[in-house]
Amino acid sequence: MSYREPLEIVSGHGRTVRGGDGRDYLDFYSGVAANLLGYDVPQVREAVERQLSTGVLHTSTFYLIRSQVELAERIADVSGIDDPVAFFTCSGTEAVETALLLATEYQRSRHVIALRHSYHGRSFGAVAVSGDKRWQGTGLSPVCVDHVPAGPEQGDGGHGQVDGYALELEDLIDAAPGRRIAALIAEPVQGVAGAVPLADGQLAAYARVVHDRDSLLICDEVQTGWGRTGRFWGHQWDEDVRPDLLVFAKGVAGGLPLGGVVGRRAVMSCLPMPSISTFGGNPLSTAAAVATLDFIVERDLPRRAGQAGRALGALLEEGLAGLASVRRVQGRGLLLGVAFQDPASGAPCAEVATAVHEECRARGLLVGLGGSAGHCVRVMPPLTLTDEEVRRGAALLVDAARGVDR
Ligand code: PMP
Repeated sequence: MSYREPLEIVSGHGRTVRGGDGRDYLDFYSGVAANLLGYDVPQVREAVERQLSTGVLHTSTFYLIRSQVELAERIADVSGIDDPVAFFTCSGTEAVETALLLATEYQRSRHVIALRHSYHGRSFGAVAVSGDKRWQGTGLSPVCVDHVPAGPEQGDGGHGQVDGYALELEDLIDAAPGRRIAALIAEPVQGVAGAVPLADGQLAAYARVVHDRDSLLICDEVQTGWGRTGRFWGHQWDEDVRPDLLVFAKGVAGGLPLGGVVGRRAVMSCLPMPSISTFGGNPLSTAAAVATLDFIVERDLPRRAGQAGRALGALLEEGLAGLASVRRVQGRGLLLGVAFQDPASGAPCAEVATAVHEECRARGLLVGLGGSAGHCVRVMPPLTLTDEEVRRGAALLVDAARGVDR
């Protein structure tokens, strides 16, 4: 993946950012999905300013932070987990690491299963290198990982059939009798991999297999949470998926740093020392998150994301139809990707995606890059975008792809 000179962003309003070059850009990447509601949202700004005006910016662990408690309550309400406990971090990476630490400790097993092509963050060793073993429980980290197939569009197993996926997972687990699996961790739609959804029923099938064996399910909803896919959580696209631990971050605090885990009490409290984080759940981020969550719920943004995502997907499908370099439009809700290919060989092609990414920017549209071969343009606009912005963004992207395909 290669990027040209990074664009300086000097201000933002609604779904538009002003670049250091003085131009306005329609943002279809939301600051890598962090600006879930767009820019300069009055409710979020006021919540942050209110907190700033108290003078209290310091953090959580040993004090009661009102906005943290409010956020924990709201997240508990929407988590779908019985008797849930939430823990806040500063990022998705830390939240994933927390979930893995808890799952491996709870299960007394270092074996974790993940999906091929998944991305769960950049640090996975911090706790393992800590000198004080109490933070590690019995010191089972780091984990041992096996991988099972991702969604059918990745074409790497399961034959696109729910039974096929379940069978692969069962075979993997049962091949080593007596080996306990701590957890399976999965993104319901693989974001960095290019917005690749799992097959209908695939996550539920995986969940059944791990729960039948008393293992845990960790849903990494860092990109798919808060309505982006058209449901509040991405895992809700399958019936009856009950995560034991749910990881969130990115858009939750309207652009400020915040992540976390919400999960079953027994798992969340299995370490001998309580988890602490100096800046996790800090007053500014949690105040912004309470305002963000209220905004999402009051305006039913999951439904809006579903609607706008269908319209955007259809416009992209229609506009890109027949282009030899376009492999497919994929994703769910407003977590979309366009996969590109080499027109001659049909192989995934990063060069085309990179060129389209550049052409979008030249036309005033910000999108992202991703994909297991770097061959996808990622489209994740703020959930507040208007119908006019759906049309304008789709037209700019189609125009850019046509320009490259010539
Ligand atoms: N999980 C997923 C699914 C992600 O997409 C990301 C970030 N792209 C992370 C975890 C890590 O989050 P962060 O960058 O906030 O550490």
